[in-house]
Amino acid sequence: MLHTIENHWIGGQWHTASSEPTPLHSPVDDTVTTRVSLAGEVEAEAALAAARTCALDGLAVEQRVAALRELAERLEADAATLAPLITRENGCPSRQAESLQVSSAVGMLRAMADIGEEFKFEHWRTGTRGGRVLVQKVPIGVSLGIVPWNVPIFLAAAKLASALLAGCPLVLKPSPENAASMTRFAEHIAALALPAGAINVLIGDGSLGAYLVAHPAVAKVSFTGSTETGRRVAESCARRIARCTLELGGKSAAVLLDDVNVDEVREQLFLAMLQNNGQVCGAQSRVLVPRSRYDDLRAALAGLFEELKLGDPSQPDTDIGPVAGARHAARIAALCEATESSGGQLVNTLKPLPAGGAFIAPRLYEAITPAHRLWKEEVFGPVIALAAYDNEAEAVALANDSPYGLSGSVWSADPERALDLARMLRTGTVGINSKKILDFGAPFGGFGESGIGREFGPEGIDTYLETKSILTA
Ligand code: NAD
Repeated sequence: MLHTIENHWIGGQWHTASSEPTPLHSPVDDTVTTRVSLAGEVEAEAALAAARTCALDGLAVEQRVAALRELAERLEADAATLAPLITRENGCPSRQAESLQVSSAVGMLRAMADIGEEFKFEHWRTGTRGGRVLVQKVPIGVSLGIVPWNVPIFLAAAKLASALLAGCPLVLKPSPENAASMTRFAEHIAALALPAGAINVLIGDGSLGAYLVAHPAVAKVSFTGSTETGRRVAESCARRIARCTLELGGKSAAVLLDDVNVDEVREQLFLAMLQNNGQVCGAQSRVLVPRSRYDDLRAALAGLFEELKLGDPSQPDTDIGPVAGARHAARIAALCEATESSGGQLVNTLKPLPAGGAFIAPRLYEAITPAHRLWKEEVFGPVIALAAYDNEAEAVALANDSPYGLSGSVWSADPERALDLARMLRTGTVGINSKKILDFGAPFGGFGESGIGREFGPEGIDTYLETKSILTA
């Protein structure tokens, strides 16, 4: 079915964009699935005007919490439609889509609603110079949420939850790739009892993103995307001293300890490396194994890769679908070629690719050193680097040898031992024997070039608030 999308949710109404429709192609067979009239500067100005005059201050915290709970209900009830839309847009295997793309947003909205109910917007302190101090947290103001195409509803809902709880009107700018799923998401937002302009959804490209980021009406930008774009967003915000949160790329390492039983953690390890075809910011794209067990762990991992079924992501037995489009497939294929021509060796045997789509066979490469591009660069696809370590100190040094620092994981039969090593990793989150890269109630974000600031938990709400002190005599 061909989707035609031309409406954007602005100021409590649907606005029709007049731009020439942009065709979107299926990653499975390159056919045109959607034609979208992208939002531009006219829609941006209308959305910012609506956000600026939105009476969100008048909405009690209980009503904001209720809106989040209602959105969670609506998404949950619509999961069977939303998840396949995203599978069609970015190739997420249908077996993973409902949980990764929709249930995650539902659980997160409910967790953030609970956190919002308890959140303290002010408290008194005894002054150190006499008198008392009222410390208040007040909304920063109109906020902008920019999200990528890989987990669009979850990431947009994350920005929406914190902004709404903090009392900041929000303009959301998802990627064009997600025009169909994000329009349906906007339809659920449209049904909430919120003041006009509280949440606006503009589907547009990078030029719209840049225009909004630079706009003086935007007090805070919450950006999720690549480090390269994040750098441009940070530069633009710096010119106006606009508040800015950056959730960027990663090159996370899974450290397998010498007592790991791969059979027991097989499914979790697969998802940690290759969920959403490796298109996850916290994908464990480097795997470090002890040299004492190199041969058997290498064989177990090769077996895992070789058993994966590559194909149409809408089929329930598909493990790996296509990457999000031809542009991404070409970039990943070029990185694989560079890896092989610089000495990287393929561990697993490859099966023939399905014809016509943006398919990349899952690949595990060994003989990878920190000099290789595959060690340093985010792939955002199903390509993993394998390396050996001699002792745990070296494992930690290798894992930390990255300009990024988003996520990491430790795999061991002894969770206490894994915890000791997890403490030494310089990343925003670390999973133990788990594919989890975040918890909805805990801060999530990156060290180094993986970003600035945190989302989720009370810390996520904090990033939409200014802190103010009122001093009494
Ligand atoms: P991208 O940086 O190309 O685009 C992200 C978003 O930014 C899109 O909405 C895009 O339209 C917009 N954009 C592009 N240029 C812009 C500009 N100059 N100013 C403002 N906005 C602009 O990233 P992508 O390819 O869509 O997504 C993949 C990247 O996102 C990966 O690097 C991945 O690691 C990262 N990511 C990070 C997290 C996280 O939480 N840390 C989560 C998911 C994805």
